[in-house]
Amino acid sequence: MSILKVARLGNPVLRKKALPLTVEELRKPDVQELIDNMVETMREYEGVGLAAPQIHESRQIVVIESANGLRYAETPTIPLTILVNPVITYCSEEVADGWEGCLSVGDFRGVVSRSTSVKVNALDRKGKEVSINASGFFAVVLQHEIDHLNGIVFIDRMKDLKTLSFLKEYERYGIKKEANE
Ligand code: ZN
Repeated sequence: MSILKVARLGNPVLRKKALPLTVEELRKPDVQELIDNMVETMREYEGVGLAAPQIHESRQIVVIESANGLRYAETPTIPLTILVNPVITYCSEEVADGWEGCLSVGDFRGVVSRSTSVKVNALDRKGKEVSINASGFFAVVLQHEIDHLNGIVFIDRMKDLKTLSFLKEYERYGIKKEANE
């Protein structure tokens, strides 16, 4: 396995619509290796998700995992989830504000409004159909990663750019602000 280079904001690959995979393509050894490398890369950089365009592959693959206490003690746990050709349905009109960051956007954090619950239909890495109902943190991560497959980054979803903060300043002022809201 190897750790891949992460595309950063400004790289056109992050703005393209990613292509779906056929089950035959998905089962090929090079695509399976790509998925392993995506998981390895996500873990190396302590991300909770990674979409294939972020490693310069314009294909509809996302990997998600959150180990407890990875970055912040309160971050909820999500088991390793690999989704191919995901289709998202927003299940609730309700939205909630939360801080987001992205491996492709460096050290920035910003507040984004997201649906509080979603349903995702996709293929797993073996090509089997899966359906996930998610709420809370998992729903936010799914929306963030699937946005990447449509060329959207979290900054595009921010309704107020005034919350855009460097990580250090977010840790100093942002968490406190969130707790007060
Ligand atoms: Zn991202």
